Amino acid sequence: MKFFGFKGGVHPPENKIQTENQAIEVLSAPKMVFIPLLQHIGVPLSPTVEIGEKVLKGQIIADSEAFMSVPVHASVSGIVKKIENLPFPLMGNVQTIVIENDEQNEWIDLEKNTNWKNLSKGELLKIIRAKGIVGLGGAAFPTHIKLNPPVDVKIDYLLLNGAECEPYLNSDNRVMIEEPSKVIEGIEIMKHILNVDNAVIGIEENKPEAIESMKKATEGTNIKVMPLKTMYPQGGEKSLIKAILNKEVPSGKLPSSVGVVVNNTTTAAAIYDAVVNGLPLIDKVVTVTGQAIKNPKNLRAAIGTPISILLENCDYNEAEVEKIVMGGPMMGMAQLTLEVPVIKGTSGLLALTKKETNYCKPKACIGCGKCVDACPMSLEPIIYARLAEFSQWEDLAKYHLMDCIECGSCAYICPANRPLTEAIKIGKAKLRSMKK
Ligand code: SF4
Ligand code: SF4
Repeated sequence: MKFFGFKGGVHPPENKIQTENQAIEVLSAPKMVFIPLLQHIGVPLSPTVEIGEKVLKGQIIADSEAFMSVPVHASVSGIVKKIENLPFPLMGNVQTIVIENDEQNEWIDLEKNTNWKNLSKGELLKIIRAKGIVGLGGAAFPTHIKLNPPVDVKIDYLLLNGAECEPYLNSDNRVMIEEPSKVIEGIEIMKHILNVDNAVIGIEENKPEAIESMKKATEGTNIKVMPLKTMYPQGGEKSLIKAILNKEVPSGKLPSSVGVVVNNTTTAAAIYDAVVNGLPLIDKVVTVTGQAIKNPKNLRAAIGTPISILLENCDYNEAEVEKIVMGGPMMGMAQLTLEVPVIKGTSGLLALTKKETNYCKPKACIGCGKCVDACPMSLEPIIYARLAEFSQWEDLAKYHLMDCIECGSCAYICPANRPLTEAIKIGKAKLRSMKK
């Protein structure tokens, strides 16, 4: 296959070396887990358990009848201690179920499906929802919805995002190296559901071991592995489709409009576990790194584990920390408290020093146009910043602001350190509130 590349993008320092060869370590579940009831794009869930109730590991503890929702499960067995609003890593407070771990590791009965090919598309989608699977590349979009495009849409390609283009992170990388057969069988399950023959795994060239691992695991299948030039944000859905298939997704449309579904390689492994082993999504591989971490690692942590426990496990130096970020440095969220828990979408935890955050005061725009050149969505970030400065919110829509994927490439490249991503986020929030 030919590599077509995508427009724009940047190449920040990779900082992958600290954890790329660190095998995944399982972190013991803590005494208390904190499970927020909003871990997917969609509506918050309602608890299905009560304070004082005993729960089993893997049991559904909150759900919703809303279309855009997936349940959450207990990541330990124990007693529900509290249900209250608590700090949430993606901003503000969210209703959270607190479970005291009884350390008995008592599981629900797990229904296995080794002969999944005998199941219908509807039955497989039902399992994927019931096991709480969401996109694990960061967006946390409910997977059963993504795998069920409108009936009048023909899907020709399934693309697997193994790019992991965010600097520092190696969570998907290690899953592809250590669990290749799960990833491949998860892809086969998705192909079966979507009724597609063609699947391509895109992996950036800076992950040679993952490329080899996937190539070996795909031998004898019709799944292709495509090495991609290392460039941020290669893993964005629209960038990946352009780079691998040379197709452009029109403004405001979904990948299915050009006959493509994109999913992440770690999501594929989770689909395998859900369908074949009956396992709900109750843990996540998290890369813990940054210069304020003495022993950077890739940890498999129970959903609901406070991030303080992961940082302590990796010997973080509190005195050196300038900023704690959940996710990568480009799109991750700075954290105000270490009480927030690991959630389904957590891929990384960065303890960054002053040197790494490299904050410089914003200066006046010099009109160099570098932000426009770097934008993978062919947008004009310089205009967004100006319109936001003068509160001209309505005009933002005319310049397709909602197509922005908030990748941060424009802010990264700006020589004047203009706070472009902040202006974009505020502008998007204003446009959303004006629509209500
Ligand atoms: S405008 Fe949006 S999509 Fe374009 S570079 Fe900036 S953050 Fe990325
Ligand atoms: S990169 Fe920065 S300085 Fe250059 S045009 Fe864009 S906002 Fe202005």
